[in-house]
Amino acid sequence: MKVVVAAETRDHERRVALVPDLVARLTSAGLDVAVESGAGLGALHPDEAYKAAGATIASGDVLAGADVVLSVQPLTPDRIARLRTGAVTVSLLPVSQELDVVQAARDAGVTAFSLELVPRISRAQSMDALTSQALVAGYRAVLVAAEKLPRFFPLSMTAAGTIPPAEVLVLGAGVAGLQAVATARRLGARVQAYDVRAASADEVRSLGARFVELDLPSLEGAGGYAREMTEERAQLQRDLLAPYVSASDVLITTAAVPGRTAPLLVQRPAIEAMKPGSIVVDLAAESGGNVEGSVPGEELQVGGALLWGARNVPSQLPVHASRLFAANVVNLVLLMTVDGKVTPDFADEIVDGAAVTHDGVVRHQNVRDALG
Ligand code: NAD
Repeated sequence: MKVVVAAETRDHERRVALVPDLVARLTSAGLDVAVESGAGLGALHPDEAYKAAGATIASGDVLAGADVVLSVQPLTPDRIARLRTGAVTVSLLPVSQELDVVQAARDAGVTAFSLELVPRISRAQSMDALTSQALVAGYRAVLVAAEKLPRFFPLSMTAAGTIPPAEVLVLGAGVAGLQAVATARRLGARVQAYDVRAASADEVRSLGARFVELDLPSLEGAGGYAREMTEERAQLQRDLLAPYVSASDVLITTAAVPGRTAPLLVQRPAIEAMKPGSIVVDLAAESGGNVEGSVPGEELQVGGALLWGARNVPSQLPVHASRLFAANVVNLVLLMTVDGKVTPDFADEIVDGAAVTHDGVVRHQNVRDALG
């Protein structure tokens, strides 16, 4: 069976869905790997590296002969239309934002898998691209802040005097937030973090940071994920967080609620009250923003603070983001590979959960409803 690694066509995407190091895991399972010429360049993998690893390099209409297509961003509808009926695609596919892609996959009889829909169960951890990419984003968020902050992160005791550590506040202590906490700690900052999930308090403390306790009832929902809160409670949360925000040199926000717009956690007056030169990194900017006024891909001055709106942050560290992403993809493909053939078994809850379309049908009722 022919597995094609597609070159990314969307703006600002430097990752690639398979790295040379992992080609052998697919070929040794009996799959042929073809890489669209130049697909790895954004992540610094030239065609020759894939060739040396056992892949072929394809150019021209590479998708027409593909049995399985791997990509980071979903293929565009016109590229999906070129696939043969029964072909499989594996990529990120945020279905509610990409309904035209879902429709194109359904109409082309393509079996499309969304890595966002891989269930978050222990057995699927090695396929969990949300986690691997959030790790990259959390790390990068701190480096952006450290680079832009006009002061030190660590405590520095010098003959010329003592410089206190930077005060970093992280809002949302999930995968990205905890990685941000760990990275800021490693750089020597004094770190505080907050999340609505009670379990995150111990995780934050175990990283040497202080957990911010707010006088708010817990919002933990099923499976340990956060639930959306009422507007009244959300405003109370913002009001209680505001003094912590204004006392920080760096604010990093990562809060999300699966399938929803990101919660607004910080309003403009709290940012305006920060010290001149403070840095705000809103990792949730693309999904609505945790910080009022943040714009994906833009740096805005708000009072004396700089507000950095995230846009495809994992792609800004394409080498390791691709390495981790590729491992997630390979693990999912191998889960479905039997005797050198990718044959999805929908009795497996991972396969069942991640498959968006199959045999001309959209498999999730909520997505069918959204398509009308
Ligand atoms: P996420 O990206 O959906 O959200 C990020 C964080 O924002 C979460 O911790 C959430 O509680 C928090 N948040 C939401 N609303 C908030 C608000 N109003 N104020 C403050 N914080 C708010 O979540 P994630 O980082 O992908 O994962 C969250 C948790 O899920 C992890 O910490 C982990 O416990 C669990 N998880 C489990 C697995 C697995 O079992 N395979 C994999 C990944 C994550």
